[in-house]
Amino acid sequence: MFVYADNAATTCVSKAALDAMLPFLTVSYFNPSSLYSSAQKVAEAVAEARETVAACLGAKSPREIYFTSCGSEADNQALVSCARLGARKGKKHLISTKFEHHAILHTLKALEKEGFEVTLLDVHEDGVVRVEDVAAAIREDTCCVSVMFANNEVGTVQPIKEIGALCREKGIPFHTDAVQAAGHIPVDVEEMNIDLLSLSGHKFHAPKGVGVLYCRKNIPLFSFIEGGAQERGKRAGTENVAGIVALAAALKESCDHMEENAEKMIAMRDRLFDGLSKIPHSKINGSLEHHVPGTVNMCFEGIEGESLLLLLDKHGICASSGSACTSGSLDPSHVLLSLGIPHELAHGSLRLSIGEYNTMEEMEYIIETVPKAVQYLRDMSPVWDELQKGTRQHLC
Ligand SMILES: *Cc1c(COP(=O)(O)O)cnc(C)c1O
Repeated sequence: MFVYADNAATTCVSKAALDAMLPFLTVSYFNPSSLYSSAQKVAEAVAEARETVAACLGAKSPREIYFTSCGSEADNQALVSCARLGARKGKKHLISTKFEHHAILHTLKALEKEGFEVTLLDVHEDGVVRVEDVAAAIREDTCCVSVMFANNEVGTVQPIKEIGALCREKGIPFHTDAVQAAGHIPVDVEEMNIDLLSLSGHKFHAPKGVGVLYCRKNIPLFSFIEGGAQERGKRAGTENVAGIVALAAALKESCDHMEENAEKMIAMRDRLFDGLSKIPHSKINGSLEHHVPGTVNMCFEGIEGESLLLLLDKHGICASSGSACTSGSLDPSHVLLSLGIPHELAHGSLRLSIGEYNTMEEMEYIIETVPKAVQYLRDMSPVWDELQKGTRQHLC
């Protein structure tokens, strides 16, 4: 059996998205900036996509929607814009959290090198940032608060509306990385007091390489890429028309079917939690109370997450571990550590992220396969041996 359970990393392109984009790769390949009527029809398709995205996000105007090349670009542009705007007023302090995506954390690192000050808030054990902690961190010179909507590793949802209200009251631009939220749970920039928001098409069944930055009308956006007047001069470069049109179609489809998809995914996710938490000395990471429908994150004591992934791959299961093995570092995931999970335990993490295309049959296969794989690895693990002998203390 082949089971794709890594939907937080990327998703398949939906039929609706593919159908929407195909004409712009074939017959309607014209540059939307050209003046002839065939090209103007392409420009109209982009305008329509902008309206669709604005409506899905509850934005007042499509003029607040900027298409980018990815979620990372939107994150970068949002933070750097707020920082430059702040610097003009002598405000050089930004607030974010320890468990953001690297697109946020590394941008903040770069800003620090340019003389900005950054406060990264702790995350509580339940995987949720507290509004009081944001309030306590705000200073006279704070020029931006950025808190992710839903975390990509543990799936916890943050009190965005409340943090937004606080920032509004203080007059500080509020950005949220909503890449894991958009299309999965309700997002409304007006109701939730959001000033800037990032999303990425490939996390909700559009192709890779297209994202959105929402920026409220009263906030000046700084351009990253200079050139033509595309995206009202805030993002030069001939539009990725097919990607943009597909993103809008995928977002609309996800939003139209949000409730039924969530219901289906929650049933599968709960089955996974139920089955996998029977593994002794395992731990569920992040509170299930505030959670996106599809993400399951657990730790299994005495094993390495990477070994588990390789073993699961042999059995046809695509999953992820929270750890930063790809960056060549042996450190466990910064997200799990920010939740206060001890290093030894965080090493043995597994993230399964499911989508509406998964089936309950696949969940049963996972529940059958993972415990065997964990046991196999524990049988060879010196750490597990010590835990069994009692020369090492159990952490869960
Ligand atoms: C995937 C992801 C991103 C990056 O999006 P790309 O389009 O791949 O650049 C940013 N933030 C979060 C939370 C993500 O999950």
